[in-house]
Amino acid sequence: MVKRKVADCRQFPSEKNCSLTIAGTEDEVLTVAVRHAVEEHGHEDTPELHEQIKGMIKDE
Ligand SMILES: [Zn+2]
Repeated sequence: MVKRKVADCRQFPSEKNCSLTIAGTEDEVLTVAVRHAVEEHGHEDTPELHEQIKGMIKDE
């Protein structure tokens, strides 16, 4: 069974008080979290953003 990872948007610096949690494989979480950060939080899709989000991904 694939181990799920989670990214909790509450730990991401933002002024939106976002409470979203994204769960899935690391690749899935990264893809969705980057899209979410860009579309909902107005971040730029940069390597730094990817690294920052990777750092937020934890074991479920
Ligand atoms: Zn969010």
